[in-house]
Amino acid sequence: MKSEKSHRLFEEALKLLPGGVNSPVRAMRAVGLEPLFFDRGAGSRLFDVDGNEYVDFVGSWGPLILGHCHEAVIEALEKSLRRGTSFGAPSPLEVELAAKVCQTVPSVEMVRMTNSGTEATMSALRVARGYTGRDKVIKFEGCYHGAVDSLLVQAGSGVATLSLPDSPGVTRRTSADTLLARYNDLDAVRAIMDGQGEQVAAIIVEPVAGNMGVVPPAAGFLEGLGELARSSGALLVFDEVMTGFRVAFGGAQQLFGMTPDMTCLGKIIGGGLPVGAFGGRREIMETVAPAGGTYQAGTLSGNPLAMAAGLATLIELEKPGVYGELEEKSAALAEGLKEAAAASGRVSLNRVGSMMTLFFTAGPVTDFDSARTSDVNRFTAYYKYMLGQGVYLPPSQFEAVFVSLAHTDEDLKRTAAAAAAFMESLGREG
Ligand SMILES: *Cc1c(COP(=O)(O)O)cnc(C)c1O
Repeated sequence: MKSEKSHRLFEEALKLLPGGVNSPVRAMRAVGLEPLFFDRGAGSRLFDVDGNEYVDFVGSWGPLILGHCHEAVIEALEKSLRRGTSFGAPSPLEVELAAKVCQTVPSVEMVRMTNSGTEATMSALRVARGYTGRDKVIKFEGCYHGAVDSLLVQAGSGVATLSLPDSPGVTRRTSADTLLARYNDLDAVRAIMDGQGEQVAAIIVEPVAGNMGVVPPAAGFLEGLGELARSSGALLVFDEVMTGFRVAFGGAQQLFGMTPDMTCLGKIIGGGLPVGAFGGRREIMETVAPAGGTYQAGTLSGNPLAMAAGLATLIELEKPGVYGELEEKSAALAEGLKEAAAASGRVSLNRVGSMMTLFFTAGPVTDFDSARTSDVNRFTAYYKYMLGQGVYLPPSQFEAVFVSLAHTDEDLKRTAAAAAAFMESLGREG
């Protein structure tokens, strides 16, 4: 695999951008590689600047459920582009996308558009705190909710001991308002609520965790969170930035028949452009400025290009049979990977719809601690092998592989065959 051009660009980038990138996971440090620089994408394929072609299972970390350069999205963008790139004033597409989101996502009666998932979660928590008049937030170990100060806390384990910030620059006082619990552990949440329930503004959760690798919610976990939140007067916030429009058109809340108080969206809702959104019950959302007093704003929020790409994507996803097709493709890949892995024994596959992770541990993987039993050296070997076979996976054990509607049966077979060849080589080594 040639990589001279990527290498040269990376050397230049290192002088100009911290770590040579604009977002850390792209740097590929977890697998000990240098990042590839990409020239273009088409359907299920990515082409790097050295001319290598890959089957893409990153999909820009989730947004590209239709694949790269889907005709409907490109057309909508071209049409919108000619009318102006930004008005800093309302435009019709915002209303159209908002209507679509409110129709589709069960808990959302009103919505505010933002420019990223990070802004969505940050703002949703501000609104939850304003609405409840309380300060504390419960989050789960291994769940990621964007680069928000108060949510960059995962350290420590179990319950509400003093949580220390994960990142320099996050103050102790900020992180002290974040209480940690183990994913899928209702007792841990109950213990926090027993002691400090009256101070808790919100429980924020990825309804299917995707940022410690894919970890599905245990039966009753999400419902239990709903009950604990209700009985203590806290809001349940689903962070569906990854799962929204992915695990079902109406997100995880539709899949599991749940109605949280608030929902955060991102990724797919922007169709590959920078968008986030948060929404919820009308009485809660009416506390957001200028309807209410909780401030939230953005110069480019509701940007016409971003709205056009998002709307075009949702219109495609709304067509009959789309999620059935996505499920078939995803199940086929999962079957292929499981067969490949059967030889090795020490792997476990978690999947919900078109998001999945092959963990290099016997499993089961039900939370961050069990995810971390994975053999990351083995994952790295797998990653490098797959890349060499033209399969572009997320460069970390603790990320989700995304299947898109653009993946062909041939793409999926090729991927499973490459995985099988890797597992066999492991078998030979013993
Ligand atoms: C990606 C992600 C975010 C952050 O979204 P950005 O657009 O990267 O700011 C928040 N929550 C979850 C669950 C995510 O997967």
